[in-house]
Amino acid sequence: MDMDGTTYTEKRPLSDLTVEEVERVYSGKPGCGCGCRGRYYESGPMVAKVLKLVQAAVAAGQDRNGVEGSMAYWESETRYYWVYAKVELSTRPARPVHTVGGKPIGPEGVPYGTTHDWDCPGCKDIPYLSSPRSETYWAS
Ligand SMILES: [Zn+2]
Ligand SMILES: [Zn+2]
Repeated sequence: MDMDGTTYTEKRPLSDLTVEEVERVYSGKPGCGCGCRGRYYESGPMVAKVLKLVQAAVAAGQDRNGVEGSMAYWESETRYYWVYAKVELSTRPARPVHTVGGKPIGPEGVPYGTTHDWDCPGCKDIPYLSSPRSETYWAS
């Protein structure tokens, strides 16, 4: 848990996964996954297509969907889509990376009162004056 109550992941968020990190995808009719009801793809436009479909379905919570280890799936009444990634996946967001002096802060953070960089990527969604980039943040 972080300060705002969000639970982050150290794994690769499915929503951020790119085609380069995909080993293969599957698209087929419900049932057996040996290839008799569908096809596996290791390259070509189907890899990007199935990845996008599964990312959208998991984000929207459609039908049976989820992440198990390095695999993500979306199984509807009429079609199964599976994504096999090269990395461990998670449905949670990645921890924002904060920087001090141009270097990322480790998981243990930095001592209290340390001002983050003005362009700290982890602070970018927080108004300047209420983020640890500003002196007033630590003064209040
Ligand atoms: Zn089969
Ligand atoms: Zn920051």
